[in-house]
Amino acid sequence: MSKKSRTQELRDKQAGIQTEPQMPLKNTFSRPPEELPHELQTHQAELEKQNTELRNAQTALEESRDHFVDLYDFAPIGYITLNPTALIMEINLTGAAMLGEERKKLLRRRFARFVAAEDSDRWYRNFLGVALHGDNQSCEVTLQRMDGTRLQVRLDCLRQVKEGKEPLVHIALSDITAHKLAEEELRITSIAFDSQQGIMVTDPNGVIIRVNQAFTDLTGYSAEEVTNKTPAVLKSGLQNRTFYQDMWKTLIQNRYWQGQMWNRHKNGKIYAEWLTISAVTAPNGRVTHYVGIFSDITRNQEIEAEIHRLAYYDPLTLLPNRRLFRDRLGQSITATTRNGHCGALLFLDMDNFKILNDTRGHDIGDLLLVEVAQRLLACVRAGDTVARLGGDEFVILLEDLSKELEEAAAQTKALCEKVQNLLAEPYHLKDYEYHCTTSIGVCLFNSNNNSVEELLKHADFAMYQSKNAGRNTLRFFDPAMQAALDERSTLVNDLRQALERQEFRLYYQPQLESTPNLIFAEALLRWAHPERGVLTPGEFIPLAEETGLILPIGLWVLETACAQLKAWESNLHSRELRLTINVSAYQFRHPDFVTQVQEVLARSGANPTRLRIELTDNLALDKVTDALEKMHALKSLGIGFSLDNFGAGYSSLSYLTRLPLDQLKIDQEFIHALGSTPNAAAIVQSIVNLGQNLGLNVIAEGVETEAQRDFLEKNGCHAFQGFLYSQPLPLEEFERFLNPG
Ligand code: C2E
Ligand code: MG
Repeated sequence: MSKKSRTQELRDKQAGIQTEPQMPLKNTFSRPPEELPHELQTHQAELEKQNTELRNAQTALEESRDHFVDLYDFAPIGYITLNPTALIMEINLTGAAMLGEERKKLLRRRFARFVAAEDSDRWYRNFLGVALHGDNQSCEVTLQRMDGTRLQVRLDCLRQVKEGKEPLVHIALSDITAHKLAEEELRITSIAFDSQQGIMVTDPNGVIIRVNQAFTDLTGYSAEEVTNKTPAVLKSGLQNRTFYQDMWKTLIQNRYWQGQMWNRHKNGKIYAEWLTISAVTAPNGRVTHYVGIFSDITRNQEIEAEIHRLAYYDPLTLLPNRRLFRDRLGQSITATTRNGHCGALLFLDMDNFKILNDTRGHDIGDLLLVEVAQRLLACVRAGDTVARLGGDEFVILLEDLSKELEEAAAQTKALCEKVQNLLAEPYHLKDYEYHCTTSIGVCLFNSNNNSVEELLKHADFAMYQSKNAGRNTLRFFDPAMQAALDERSTLVNDLRQALERQEFRLYYQPQLESTPNLIFAEALLRWAHPERGVLTPGEFIPLAEETGLILPIGLWVLETACAQLKAWESNLHSRELRLTINVSAYQFRHPDFVTQVQEVLARSGANPTRLRIELTDNLALDKVTDALEKMHALKSLGIGFSLDNFGAGYSSLSYLTRLPLDQLKIDQEFIHALGSTPNAAAIVQSIVNLGQNLGLNVIAEGVETEAQRDFLEKNGCHAFQGFLYSQPLPLEEFERFLNPG
């Protein structure tokens, strides 16, 4: 067999080209005639075989051509063949669809007819280059279809030259419209992304994915610093939770939000921005991203005024805040020195405001503060300043009073009375009528000798004196107060050294049951001051709490009490004894309190079930959850709890039932009042009942007389502590009390 392919061979056969020598006919005729029929039969068979082969080959060829035609016609790109004058000679179906015309109508049409006018020069140059010089190349042009629609295509051109035939140009057309659009969009997006406005792109959970340069310029945070964080890094704290909740609600509902927002620059400065947030959604409607675009609008005058207002005014009452008030006071001190007039600084405190806030809620508390602010403004002259320093603390600065100190005092007193009367009028807070009194401390000034700091301290001190003197009172700061202030600062210094100098002692006061078994003793702290003698807690605990010294002092009490419990274990008379200690709210709130107790117990080896902690009820009120957690933790160690001074505070029944208490301790005020105040007996009875109903032990403290003890006994209270049995005693005396022999 020759090297020709089978197809070629078949094609040749079709064309009558013989590839192999046929049987010579003359041989056929030279045979004897009797052989002819056989010869012819053989030939016929041979021919039929060849025919079958030919037909098979033809079918294969047709199939192969169809296959090629399919590939050609339906290829994803268009194929066009142009003659040297750029007439369309051949085109596949895809190409025809790209030109928007039937194939047969396209043949011998000029291809340039379909090239958009703006690209026609370029197309000709390109075509001539290919057709004349064989510069096979590609170019991108816009096609304009018969119906006017446009299409971006890339043309890959190839010249084909065959001898004796005119050269042809084959073109492959690829639709690049979508690609071009995407490219353009990308270009626009990247230009837009580099705009002067800050842009931040987050994922659907609000986690930042990308920010632009303007974002960094406006916020101070680089892309690396904020990527994978939430925009909360920019939070100023000036918008409340409701603001953000509303924003997210709108965003989820409308897929869009815009508004003003206060944020904090990396350098700490607060700025205002106008922010637009849009949700980016996938075709199925699911949010894939959020894009936030913002610009700094702090420069707006209106906003500047707002910043000023926020910085210098109290947002609730719109009164000047502490900062502005200090400025005004400073200016006033300078003015009084110049003009000789006296000025007065008034410190006001609403009596029992905390109770209102705790029992009726902050909204009602806020309403009261706003009303108080308005009433105060109504009392003063135009030049005077009313400010709110925080909480229920209001101050008034009176200027241009008389040059005579006494007369200035009288003027101030008159105004204070006016203020107190007006503030004592009933308040209508929603549908609740509220009455309240005010304590005022006053400090007069008429020289430059006083600093802002000192005056504020003096007026504040006078206010506390006024509060201590009873509700609705007025106190002027005077030399006696000055002396008390000085003494106080000396005491603070001494207190700082007292631990080091080992000046603290624990005294023990027995708690007895009617049986009369001694079960408990209360450890009460004393300070053996080197000059002042033995001081009781009332004289230094408030100071220790204010200065934070209560923490080391409280720890000392705990350590000493536990060591004592351990020591008593080895003595026959004291081994059953249990000890209760007082823990100040300040100390109890400390995050390490539970750990501290655990450590002290472990170090001392004291039995925790012999230790009880007395807490006052103000403690549990403000952070109930925290208090509960701590109490449960300590309780699980075996420690007991007693609620001290019960009845004197404003414990609510609901929280009382939630605390894991063992004991209620009736405040001694009620015990002392037994027999003299009619209500006292009823109060004591109801506390005892309450304790019994809650399954708590009830003890009365401050029991001084048999009559008190008998009354308590009769009414179901069987545990007592008081001078009737014993004063709080130093250790040795207490041990003698245990074992008189
Ligand atoms: P408290 O826990 O209510 O302690 C009872 C107070 O009543 C003690 O005053 C005690 O001496 C006094 N007392 C006891 N029986 C009678 C009586 O029959 N008549 C009268 N008139 N008074 C009686 P003390 O020792 O001056 O303690 C005052 C408060 O100081 C205590 O009140 C307690 O709250 C606090 N305190 C005492 N020791 C500590 C301590 O170690 N740490 C803390 N944080 N506070 C303590
Ligand atoms: Mg106590």
